[in-house]
Amino acid sequence: PGTLYLCATPIGNLEDITLRVLRVLREVDLIAAEDTRHTRKLLAHYDIHTPLISFHEHNRLKQGAYLLEQLQSGRNVALVSDAGMPGISDPGEDLVSGAIARGITVVPCPGPSAALTALVASGLPASSFCFEGFLPAVAPARRRRLEKLKGEERTMIFYEAPHRLLKTLADMVEVLGDRPVTVARELTKLHEEFWRGTLSGAGEYFSGRPLKGEFTLVVAGRTGSNGGGARPEPWEKLTPAEHVH
Ligand code: SAM
Repeated sequence: PGTLYLCATPIGNLEDITLRVLRVLREVDLIAAEDTRHTRKLLAHYDIHTPLISFHEHNRLKQGAYLLEQLQSGRNVALVSDAGMPGISDPGEDLVSGAIARGITVVPCPGPSAALTALVASGLPASSFCFEGFLPAVAPARRRRLEKLKGEERTMIFYEAPHRLLKTLADMVEVLGDRPVTVARELTKLHEEFWRGTLSGAGEYFSGRPLKGEFTLVVAGRTGSNGGGARPEPWEKLTPAEHVH
């Protein structure tokens, strides 16, 4: 059989694509893309002419069966989503489990993902975290989900659509209590912005401006073992001799 490559693509900045992903996209027989028009632009930028087929939420069963057939008959397939790592709040996981069940080799080609990109610059504890993806769109289900996360001590990462940002922040204040958050907007893009403060402060700040772009929220875990608020700064404890000049 062929090999299924899971290829990460930029989350904004076109330079954030690895040399390996570019080579794999050039060499495979077929690229399965969430939105072929979107991916065509990326491929055109890098002068890649591999055949493209669509693979998205609504055709994933039919197309998934087709892609598995192609893989079984020896073709190499690369899976990409519109942005970031395929399979992370994007189609892919069914195809991966289907491939594994058929003995097809799955090769991840890593690259950017909004979740980790936001986390590392958030300033919140990154040694232990959980990824929650999108909360439910409907208020009662969203609150129930947040209720379950109330006691979570790890830093939590959420994706959110711009038109739901304010409602989500308000629900978080109500259910989780006011706590530290970093709102990462337009990561890796021209208007990249990190808003760091509390959930209620974020609500106030963003209600005063047009909600444009893409948002990732990094929310502190329950204050306790995770700190949540101020943490000791390790370098303050260093004696001058320990500083590296
Ligand atoms: N597979 C992608 C990944 O690995 O990051 C995530 C896909 S998910 C459908 C899209 C969501 O990711 C957006 O609604 C937003 O919450 C987040 N996101 C994607 N790109 C982003 C960016 N440049 N800045 C901030 N958040 C982003």
